[in-house]
Amino acid sequence: MDNLKPPICSVCHQPLLPAYYFCPNCGHEVKEKPLHLSVWTQIGVYLLSIALPPLGLWPGIKYLAKPGRQAKWVGAIAIALTLISTVASIWLIFAGFKAYLNQINGLNGFGL
Ligand SMILES: [Zn+2]
Repeated sequence: MDNLKPPICSVCHQPLLPAYYFCPNCGHEVKEKPLHLSVWTQIGVYLLSIALPPLGLWPGIKYLAKPGRQAKWVGAIAIALTLISTVASIWLIFAGFKAYLNQINGLNGFGL
C-alpha cells in the first residue's frame, strides 16, 4: 500500500505530510488527488443512469476506477441505478405490450 511508504518526495527527497498530493518543494505529484464530485454532478450521473440506462455505465465505470471513496460510491450507485433502470425498462415494455394485446383482444371481443 502507498500509505506504508515513508512520506518523502521521490524526486527531491523533501519530507512530506501524508495529506500532501503534490510536493511543496518541486511540485511532483505524490499521489492522485481523490475526485471530488459536486452534488449536481452526482445528480446528473444518477439521472443519466435512470433516464438512459446504457449510458449510465460509462460514468459509473469511470468513477469506480477513480481514487477516493466518494467517487467509488457514485460509480457503484450509478451502475446499480443503470441495472435497475434497464430491468424496469424491459419490464415496462413487456407490460405495455401485454396491455396493448389485451386491448386489441378486448376490442375484437366486444366491438367486432
Ligand atoms: Zn519534490
